[in-house]
Amino acid sequence: MYEKSKELLNRAEKVLASGVSSEFRKYNHPHALFYTHGSGSRIYDVDGNEYLDFTLSQGPLILGHSHPEVLRKVEEYSREGQLYAGQHIREIELAEKLNKLIPSAELMRFCLDGSEAVQTAFRVARAKTGRQKFLRFEGHYHGWLDNVAYGISTPGIEALGSREQPNVFPWTAGLPESSREDFIVLPWNDLALVEQTVKRYHEEIAAIITEPIMCNNGCILPNEGFLEGLRALCDRFGIALILDEVITGFRVGLGGAQQYFGVTPDLSIFAKAMGSGYPISAIVGKREWMELIAEGKVIHAGTMNSGNPTVAAALATIEVLEQENPYERMYRLGRRLMDGLREAAVDTKQDLVTQGLGPMFVTYFGKKRQCNDYRDTLGNDKAKLSRFIAGLHDRGIRVIGRGLWYVSAAHTEKDVDKAIQTAADVLKELP
Ligand code: PLP
Repeated sequence: MYEKSKELLNRAEKVLASGVSSEFRKYNHPHALFYTHGSGSRIYDVDGNEYLDFTLSQGPLILGHSHPEVLRKVEEYSREGQLYAGQHIREIELAEKLNKLIPSAELMRFCLDGSEAVQTAFRVARAKTGRQKFLRFEGHYHGWLDNVAYGISTPGIEALGSREQPNVFPWTAGLPESSREDFIVLPWNDLALVEQTVKRYHEEIAAIITEPIMCNNGCILPNEGFLEGLRALCDRFGIALILDEVITGFRVGLGGAQQYFGVTPDLSIFAKAMGSGYPISAIVGKREWMELIAEGKVIHAGTMNSGNPTVAAALATIEVLEQENPYERMYRLGRRLMDGLREAAVDTKQDLVTQGLGPMFVTYFGKKRQCNDYRDTLGNDKAKLSRFIAGLHDRGIRVIGRGLWYVSAAHTEKDVDKAIQTAADVLKELP
């Protein structure tokens, strides 16, 4: 059923390194696939297969594929011009919207993706504090650039070593060894350990960066008081609290996870769902931190930043989210899907677990009924998960390979029921 994709992959490999334009796209089932179009909750490949899409292109497509209002605005603004090496009024409109919606967004700058916005936040934090290191957490992903490309993967739980001083492994060849000196890494959700470390090393720490929900591994919620505890430690020791809202932004609600949990960071990053698949991100923050950019002490630049099409996409996306307010529905559908998968697992005697909020959640197979940090997730049965995801895919349900499901405003009750029924069929066939 994937023959044409395979032929195109063979052709692509001759000119595109491993046939793809981003490493993660290699990990589709059964190999990198080629798609022709997407519409609402559906995506179609070159072999004519239709998929009910819960990947949403790794998160961005919160309104589903090809939302008409996004396309209309992108076309309208693109016809006026594309990029001016100068300002346009729509950037102000977008910034004013973010300022109104996101608790910490007093000042901001637009960038192209999450990775570079993260680096901008580090630069601001270093410049303001005069310190060099950032503290980050095992299992969190903050982009693919050098200083955050350690500790993304591990050979196994034994290799991680002690909780107090975990070992980290380079994700890729080609990293400068000096990047290893840029950060301290700790297990997540353990406030006592963070406090102990910060007390000891605070004179070196410019920032603590965290995903507010550990979406990239296990979709793990913060323990009660954890984010508040980080906030208090940062206040006490003059450290920047950076919330990486690349996934949670516009997904858990219009004000991001900072509004959901009521914890206001100094700096935060918005990307993915902000632009419905167009390359736009934002570093937003409190005035006292972002002022360093305003004053020109910290340089942030980019030829392609805030072009007409990307700003149009973000404005259209946010306006639709504001007008239609699909969040109650996305939570309800997500929870219905999680419950349905759980019931199917009970009926088929499978050790499948669902964990997350609803608009995004994970499925895993394992003995632990709840994972609380990255180390907990390492004992899960990855081979079984791969078979489950492959089985769903062959029956037209597309889910991110590591078991992450995203629900969009375009998904319906019928879609969710179809996914549950299909999952039940797949689970019956698993050993
Ligand atoms: N931060 C988080 C939490 C992410 O999930 C990602 C990407 O998946 C990034 C940062 C990097 O964003 P981008 O891929 O847009 O560079």
